[in-house]
Amino acid sequence: LPYLPNPSRYGNMEFRRCGKSGLDLPMISLGLWHNFGHSDDFKNGRTILRTAFDLGITHFDLANNYGPPYGSAEENFGRIFRKDFRSLRDELLISSKAGWDMWPGPYGNFGSKKYLVASLDQSLKRMGLDYVDIFYHHRPDPDTPLEETMGALDLIVRQGKALYVGISQYSAADSAKASQILKDLGTPCLIHQPRYSMMDRWVEDGLLDTLESEGIGAIAFSPLEQGVLTDKYLNGFPEDSRAVRDGRYLDTGKITPDLLAKVKRLNGLARDRGQSLAQMAIAWLMKDKRITSVLVGVSRAEQLQDNVNSLKKRDFTASELEEIEKILA
Ligand code: NDP
Repeated sequence: LPYLPNPSRYGNMEFRRCGKSGLDLPMISLGLWHNFGHSDDFKNGRTILRTAFDLGITHFDLANNYGPPYGSAEENFGRIFRKDFRSLRDELLISSKAGWDMWPGPYGNFGSKKYLVASLDQSLKRMGLDYVDIFYHHRPDPDTPLEETMGALDLIVRQGKALYVGISQYSAADSAKASQILKDLGTPCLIHQPRYSMMDRWVEDGLLDTLESEGIGAIAFSPLEQGVLTDKYLNGFPEDSRAVRDGRYLDTGKITPDLLAKVKRLNGLARDRGQSLAQMAIAWLMKDKRITSVLVGVSRAEQLQDNVNSLKKRDFTASELEEIEKILA
């Protein structure tokens, strides 16, 4: 059946301005790191993307090597885009990235101009797009001059292959340097994509301050610690969970009894607030206005609905915030 998007989709979502730019991002964005590879169920991915758009999620985040195999998330996204979203292109923000290993040899990894330009060309082909909205350098590369990497981002924008550029996982100091170089080139850095959750707080130590003063937005990835910050592991390891199904980045060994004891207490607090732990973990990130968007992954469309409902209760009392710090200490 042809996809008819929900006419009231924009009533469900709130948007935040991305740094000092003209671009608004939905407060919840969807990442395609997992669940969109050739080893995953294509129909399920399609349902997730349709559900996302129906909920007002206009931003889909990809990278060259999402899959597995590498490239397959972009290929599957391209197939779904052609079937369902082609006429909606101007309502969508699609991002991709390069910076991690992608193809063999010295030109398929890190931060050279050679790699970034070739990789984006490949990504555009796989997705069947003329341009991406945001192109990121996926991780810092200490062995390539920042001028070269930022020069590649500027070039890509001038070639019309990306509208905006961003960086991911750069330290506060490197972000400030990158931002200055990009400003001098005339292609300001739109956004930074750091890992950030209740349990991973590195951005609070200078990065968010730097982004604010540079006018750069922030989109937080792995806000649920890949599923740990939900109730799913409280009664064992479900067969269909990421820790059991995948194990590349999250395996059951990392989900220790100590960690689960904390998650259990957080879950109790979330229940007292009348929301799921996933919702509380997302709302907790949104309380900082410098977080433009929270970038979730989901294995099922229902999880996305659950996550979007976090928008309904975002305020925290001082004692709830204290309690969270005590639990995590
Ligand atoms: P999350 O922390 O949101 O984890 C997603 C997983 O949590 C899902 O696959 C699902 O696990 C579980 N989950 C999500 N919602 C719920 C819910 N409501 N109830 C129960 N379980 C839930 O994010 P990801 O780690 O997936 O990262 C999100 C995105 O961030 C990626 O897709 C990618 O776009 C980006 N990213 C960027 C990186 C970078 O270097 N820039 C690195 C990593 C990610 P399950 O499968 O067990 O159901």
